[in-house]
Amino acid sequence: MGDSRLMSVLVDEASIGRRIDELSHAIARDYIGISGLIVVGVMKGACMFTTDLVRGLSRAGMSGIRVEFIRASTYGNAVKGSQDRSREISIGELTCDVSRRRVLLVDDIVDQGFTMHALKRHFLEALGASEVRTCAFLQKRLTNPTAEVQALRSSFQVDYYGFEVDDTWVVGYGLDVAEEFRELPYVAAFDPQAQR
Ligand code: 5GP
Ligand code: MG
Repeated sequence: MGDSRLMSVLVDEASIGRRIDELSHAIARDYIGISGLIVVGVMKGACMFTTDLVRGLSRAGMSGIRVEFIRASTYGNAVKGSQDRSREISIGELTCDVSRRRVLLVDDIVDQGFTMHALKRHFLEALGASEVRTCAFLQKRLTNPTAEVQALRSSFQVDYYGFEVDDTWVVGYGLDVAEEFRELPYVAAFDPQAQR
């Protein structure tokens, strides 16, 4: 893979395409008869997934979808340690009115679950959405969650996700480490110890 910090390909490009097709059909089925869906992608990590997903939804027969993006950040540019405590999640401005609208929130990855949970609450409580469903490209299989994280992950689950990955830092297909590797068309495990 060139860069020795990329350890292995976890999800290849063809698998991503196939899974997005499956997910799109499942989502389209669930939204049959519902119009005026607003799909909100979380920048920057979910940009690629969001743009591929909405095209999948269109191929699966959905129409009248509105696409928006919002910023949310937790960790800054650092690779977070698995024992880190929950942090404040800062949520950016949304440039459209979602009050009394149905929203599908799309993020790159559910790790401890704080970001998606905070975003869902924000859309329901502060922005007045009538319904919020959640879709993550990846979901981490946590090996050593704190009691707090365990409680959150069991009380809050995303409605849809693409793939489960092991509890390592992953990059590619929108996911970065310090703004690198977003452009990769596949998902790879990142080794912070390796020399470039
Ligand atoms: P959570 O709040 O679920 O612990 O973390 C979710 C957010 O942290 C994601 O939106 C993503 O931006 C970031 N994140 C968590 N794990 C990873 C990872 O393995 N790779 C990358 N690039 N970002 C991650
Ligand atoms: Mg994020």
